[in-house]
Amino acid sequence: MPHDSHDHPHSLLPSDPALRVKALETLLTDKGLIDPAALDEIIDTYENKVGPQNGARVVARMWTDPAFRSAMLDDPMPKLIEMGLYGRQGEHMVIVENTEDTHNMVVCTLCSCYPWPLLGIPPGWYKSDAYRARAVREPRKVLAEFGVTLDEGVKVRVWDSTAEVRYLVVPRRPVGTEGMSEDELAGLVTRDSMIGCGLAREPGA
Ligand code: FE
Repeated sequence: MPHDSHDHPHSLLPSDPALRVKALETLLTDKGLIDPAALDEIIDTYENKVGPQNGARVVARMWTDPAFRSAMLDDPMPKLIEMGLYGRQGEHMVIVENTEDTHNMVVCTLCSCYPWPLLGIPPGWYKSDAYRARAVREPRKVLAEFGVTLDEGVKVRVWDSTAEVRYLVVPRRPVGTEGMSEDELAGLVTRDSMIGCGLAREPGA
């Protein structure tokens, strides 16, 4: 068999993750353990429907609608359910707002808890040991590595996510955005800014 020979340069077994997933999927389908149509739907949901654009819509509306903002800070769940932004890994959301004197930042020190319905799937760095340990130990240093330098007087508050509670950060609304529509404002809200590891984009930047 060629793949048993050590001098053969290529393995005939799937080497990259995509092939391995495919092999696993075929096996599980053959055994009747998964339904490929259901799997396709889940993949479509997280590829196309769920992502930071959802959180950005929430933030933009909080920036422009004071009644909505205070309702969201009080208890976001009724509004999130109404907006269809409710689901797995987002059952109990808490929304924290950056202000002139407080910057919020989110981590899951234990694993990788993240608000899926609002931000999609977490980025690799969010799940890394380094981020999880350093976000609580030296948040300002971590923020600086993300390009966020805060004034000395600004307090940094780090929120540790759990299986129950997930957080969304509302970044500060950039100056010079007074005339912008909600859609335009949503375009300024980055994923990282809603984790607290970034700031909203400046208009025209
Ligand atoms: Fe976790």
